[in-house]
Amino acid sequence: MPLALSDTTKAWQHKAREFAETELIPHEVEAEMHDGRLPDEIEHRQHALAVELGLSRMDVPKDWGGLELSATDQVAVWEQLGRVTNALCWCFSEPQRWMFEACTREQIETWIQPLSTGRRRECYAITEAEAGSDPGSIRTTARRDGDHYVIDGEKWFVTGANKADFAILEAVVATADGSRPHALFFLDLATPGLEIIDNPSFGHAFASHHPTYRLTGVRVPAANRIGEEGAGLDYTKSWFRRERLMIAARCCGAAARLIEEGMEFARTRIVGGSPIAEYQLIQAMLADSTAELWGAKLMTYEAAAMQDRGEDLAVVHTHCSIAKLVASEMANRVADRVVQIFGGRGYMRRTAAQRFYRELRVDRIWEGTSEIQRLIIARSLLKRGVEGLLG
Ligand SMILES: Cc1cc2nc3c(=O)[nH]c(=O)nc-3n(C[C@H](O)[C@H](O)[C@H](O)COP(=O)(O)OP(=O)(O)OC[C@H]3O[C@@H](n4cnc5c(N)ncnc54)[C@H](O)[C@@H]3O)c2cc1C
Repeated sequence: MPLALSDTTKAWQHKAREFAETELIPHEVEAEMHDGRLPDEIEHRQHALAVELGLSRMDVPKDWGGLELSATDQVAVWEQLGRVTNALCWCFSEPQRWMFEACTREQIETWIQPLSTGRRRECYAITEAEAGSDPGSIRTTARRDGDHYVIDGEKWFVTGANKADFAILEAVVATADGSRPHALFFLDLATPGLEIIDNPSFGHAFASHHPTYRLTGVRVPAANRIGEEGAGLDYTKSWFRRERLMIAARCCGAAARLIEEGMEFARTRIVGGSPIAEYQLIQAMLADSTAELWGAKLMTYEAAAMQDRGEDLAVVHTHCSIAKLVASEMANRVADRVVQIFGGRGYMRRTAAQRFYRELRVDRIWEGTSEIQRLIIARSLLKRGVEGLLG
């Protein structure tokens, strides 16, 4: 195999591929036709199997009963899960390693550990109407009141809130000196004062919704604050680093499946007496897609390897942005080409290419838009130079 993966990585890759092929992909069309929803028994089985396979414990430290997989192994898993449409691969929650560093023992036991055993589900409430690309300008405030904080504000695009029972919420702490430190809080979604004020539909058919919440005088115990006041943006950065890398991995998986499906169709679709795979304009689309996928894949695996080698975190952070930028833009181009190869059939929702064409679009937007990734890369380049960044 051209990409030199260790036996352990290959074993995880195989496990995730089998799960995707046998348990998730067969339900895609049903999910697409029912706003992303599947019958409860199927959702429960997928969730139970994911937990049993260890997918919810990949990034959990061994001390906490986790698998503490390398970033490379995790990329291999998420790459395979990226082959699935309709976000069916989000059938499990997954604590991230930084949470075990940031949280107290009690917080880990209450909020984090139950994610890995499948007993709780979480969502993330960072973005606001006026704060998306620039989380520094968040307006939701947390005012200290004895052993509680009182939180007021609005949160947009809270993915998976309908499946979750708590949120990790970012707010600005109201301070006398006006310093506005950011902080993260565990917020039970049943807390009084929390209401859904909008639940827009989006371009994809996912069971996870992205509602807008209003918080009015929401009282949160001070014990629910993650780390110190002022640490909020740092934790968000750790979260972004991992998410960006795994988005890149998923985009590579999606592109691989798209190319395979496009190739298969092109071999069997006869137009003008020949399979369209014999036409060079079709071959060019497959060739460009494969070459671009290879580039994105190498970058994604190398970003993971850099993390595994313990390289400078700031440089790793930039490489996660590079991987996310290149892989998400690549996957969108590949989806567009493969829809084209399928012709009219590519416009049907039962065709995977059509679903990917809509679903992959958001990978250029969330966890930092492509423009924001470019800014991160440019700032890092100006600071470190080409050699400092690329060797
Ligand atoms: C389906 C979906 C699910 C989401 N899930 C979550 C979630 O679970 N939790 C959460 O907190 N958020 C979530 N988000 C929010 C997401 O992270 C933001 O949409 C994203 O960060 C962009 O913010 P914005 O939409 O406010 O765009 P804006 O910040 O308003 O940007 C608008 C445009 O301006 C560009 N732009 C902004 N600043 C600059 C600049 N300095 N230079 C050049 N161009 C710039 C952007 O790239 C973009 O093209 C989700 C979004 C979507 C669509």
